[in-house]
Amino acid sequence: MKIFQLLYPPKCAFCGQLLENAAEDICPACRAALPWTGTRAVTRGSFFSACVSPLYYRDLARQGLLGFKFRRRSSAGRCFGRLMARCVREQLQTEADLVTYVPLSFLRLRKRGYSQSRLLAKALAAELGLPLAKLLRKQRHTKPLSRIRGEERRRAAVSGAFGLCRGAEEQMKDKCVLLVDDVITTGATLGECSRLLLTFGADRVVCATLCKK
Ligand SMILES: [Zn+2]
Repeated sequence: MKIFQLLYPPKCAFCGQLLENAAEDICPACRAALPWTGTRAVTRGSFFSACVSPLYYRDLARQGLLGFKFRRRSSAGRCFGRLMARCVREQLQTEADLVTYVPLSFLRLRKRGYSQSRLLAKALAAELGLPLAKLLRKQRHTKPLSRIRGEERRRAAVSGAFGLCRGAEEQMKDKCVLLVDDVITTGATLGECSRLLLTFGADRVVCATLCKK
């Protein structure tokens, strides 16, 4: 056993139990119980051609994502990145050129101290061997979309909420961008971000999230 594994024994990314097999990152019980999306991994949307998500946002997957916030173990991040990478390879018929993520507003970032979508994007980019770029910024604070009912209203709520980072246009010109978020619900947020990326020169946008509702 490597010294790293003695210091940081591998734990299941979802329940935190110690793993007997260090090559796995999910325990057998969780692997069996997780709400996998399987053949329903793909969500179609406006402005992005497809969004893939390996898990449904419920039960163990929801707990794992919420727990990620507190534990913030890098091993869990790697595991989530691997799950998303497999989904991207199997379900998207596109080779992306770079990875980016849905940003948090400054207010929320300061409150929370970290961006979950950035951590997931970083892990996914590492798995796929693609560069990670910060292309988008939140320019207006929005109410959590979970409190807004109806797709039209959600779309209206995020309209104009995002802006482009300095230098983003050169980075994504004629490129296929893989846009990452933690959860997709109606796709309003991913749609608005994709619209912006396409408007400013991206050739195509595909999306990946860990979970879908
Ligand atoms: Zn487990």
